[in-house]
Amino acid sequence: MAQLAFIGLGNMGGPMALNLLKAGHQVRVFDLSAAALDAARAAGAIVAASPAAAVEGAEAVVSMLPASKHVEGVYLGDQGLLASIAPGTLVIDCSTIAPASSRKVADAAKARGIDFIDAPVSGGTAGAAAGTLTFIVGGAADLLERARPYLSVMGKNIFHAGGNGAGQVAKICNNMLLGIHMAGSAEALALGVANGLDPKVLSDIMVKSSGRNWSLELYNPWPGVMDNVPASRGYTGGFGSALMLKDLGLAAEAATAAGSAIPLGELARNLYQLHCQDEGGLDFSSIVNLYRKD
Ligand code: NAD
Repeated sequence: MAQLAFIGLGNMGGPMALNLLKAGHQVRVFDLSAAALDAARAAGAIVAASPAAAVEGAEAVVSMLPASKHVEGVYLGDQGLLASIAPGTLVIDCSTIAPASSRKVADAAKARGIDFIDAPVSGGTAGAAAGTLTFIVGGAADLLERARPYLSVMGKNIFHAGGNGAGQVAKICNNMLLGIHMAGSAEALALGVANGLDPKVLSDIMVKSSGRNWSLELYNPWPGVMDNVPASRGYTGGFGSALMLKDLGLAAEAATAAGSAIPLGELARNLYQLHCQDEGGLDFSSIVNLYRKD
């Protein structure tokens, strides 16, 4: 069993670290939130006083941070973690960030003899808790093989998208589609309810019809339609609307860089921009509140 470091114990990182612990690894953790550290300590993790203390002696470092600025802030610069990580250590960044930012950290790691892969995930907090996440890896194939034993206790599908940053590109494409079909599902449900339908009956119909999609089937945005989803607990936990807005912004940046047209992705980004003025702290399925008349 390995000694591992885990940085960032939020809605996703917390349960992911727990699965590494359950698999028998020793996990040293760091987060800025005292509550997150308390929960990890109770689950058997060793709480480090600093990021540098967390990575001391680690075979691999896993990070799960909100956005590019957090990842660059943690790893780069004079006080950055790369200065404390031993050469030859494998760093697995699971955050969803800009591909260019991920490549920048990968290059800085390589310059110090540290191995780095991007491994953003899909599957939500339920997937993180169940250990059934999908990992979308960017980086050298041999590094993915070194990461596989750790990734496979946190997820069940592992894809190699390409070189450094390719995992992020694939993840951004996926989340743009997710933002579009969550907004579309919310719109269809609100239309049905405004015309007298029961949202559960309408959901049951569409899940067995051609409008079927992940948001509708596994993460229904209408309160009371499904148990154990954020919509049925006041949109707490889950995937924050502000994080979805961040991902749709990453899609817009990628589209600009490549000269691609993403009209629906831009529309979804604008819907989330409007929504986040009031409800950025709520789960992203709360976009349905933009459409509700009741
Ligand atoms: P979160 O906001 O719940 O957690 C982020 C954690 O990082 C927090 O505990 C915060 O205290 C910690 N943190 C921030 N800066 C730090 C620093 N400098 N040092 C140590 N800890 C720091 O976010 P989340 O929902 O867990 O998402 C994390 C990443 O995973 C994001 O990039 C998100 O886009 C992606 N993601 C989230 C989901 C989801 O369903 N929530 C699904 C797939 C991917």
